[in-house]
Amino acid sequence: MKFYFPDSQDLVSPAYDFVRDEYQAHRVRQRDDRYAHEVLAEAPYHGILVSKSIVDGSIKGAGKYSTAQRARLYRMGVHKFFRLPPGVEALGDNGAFNYVDEAVPPVTPAETLDFYEECGFDAGVSTDHVVFGFTENHESDGVDPEWESRRRLTLGLAADFMSLSRGRNSTVEPVGAAQGWSPETYADSVRALQELGYQRIALGGMVPLKTSQILASLERISEVLKSDTQLHLLGITRVESMDDFADLGVTSFDSTSAFRQAFMDDRKNFHTAERAYVALRVPQVDGNPTLKRAILAGNVSQKDAITAERETLKALRTYDSSATSRQACIDRLSEYEVICQSKKSYLAAYEETLAAAPWTRCECKICRDHGIEIAIFRGTERNKRRGFHNMSVLATKMSKLKSHRSTDG
Ligand SMILES: [Zn+2]
Repeated sequence: MKFYFPDSQDLVSPAYDFVRDEYQAHRVRQRDDRYAHEVLAEAPYHGILVSKSIVDGSIKGAGKYSTAQRARLYRMGVHKFFRLPPGVEALGDNGAFNYVDEAVPPVTPAETLDFYEECGFDAGVSTDHVVFGFTENHESDGVDPEWESRRRLTLGLAADFMSLSRGRNSTVEPVGAAQGWSPETYADSVRALQELGYQRIALGGMVPLKTSQILASLERISEVLKSDTQLHLLGITRVESMDDFADLGVTSFDSTSAFRQAFMDDRKNFHTAERAYVALRVPQVDGNPTLKRAILAGNVSQKDAITAERETLKALRTYDSSATSRQACIDRLSEYEVICQSKKSYLAAYEETLAAAPWTRCECKICRDHGIEIAIFRGTERNKRRGFHNMSVLATKMSKLKSHRSTDG
């Protein structure tokens, strides 16, 4: 089972000074900042997924790339741009979520293939249009007619994409996009894509589905699936179901969830093989809007806030796993919660995090280099590193799956 990481230009600055919370004086983002595969000892993914709409921008506005970055990607090619180690694949797609509100995709199969070829992708997904809706019924009565028209449109675009790819003798491996709105229609899309000659198929639109609905669809697909067709799940992790997915023909998936939970989830911020822990929230005085307002309104003294912030970080950095030291951390975190006027308290969860001290047991290079800093919820440099750590935990979990062992010996 292979894992792909969707690129959103998430990098960290290797020379960041955690004690002073400062970047190096002459930092040049483009040149100095590093991707997850460069700060961990090993790439935590088998490939990256790069969306055309994130690079080129879309109907919804500019993408995540500056004009200069975009030019560099086209000039250097995707492998050099990302400094990918050998064996890490670059997979492209259109980023169909960015034009989901349009009647038809604002991009043609020719433009899609141009993007893949100009940037030197290894493989690329055919142009598609996301279907937002699902039913387990076999009948199409009562379902939004747009669901079926989008599915058919996607198949038509896949046919054009394949003939362009063959006509140009393209070196980019074509991956057919399958959309559907029921197990039956997903299976029909896969059947049609195989007839067009696709040996790799990406299943789209499954993100909002329940695991049971994904399984029902995969079961129906498996009835038409050729033994040499590889299935990719777009945007789905669900590690606990991966072995079941693998039994039904899934060989890869992509997801940002392990990365984003580091700073987007309320609780599951720091992942370990067994469970996830809450990260220790020590927001920056000058980066916290609630605190800033309270200071401006004269309800909190700026000096007190800065002192509490500093004392909390100091307590955490000297934490030695003893009960006294743990209580000192909790006391400081508690005081700082009050000053920050936090709407809810995480103190009980912090006790668990501190007691387990999972960063002391993690073997990833980030935890070994930075220790407890990675468990602190504070600013982009710590938060993204914790996301990278989470991906390395995911990679380890994937390597222990039955499905992984059976495919990789
Ligand atoms: Zn780690």
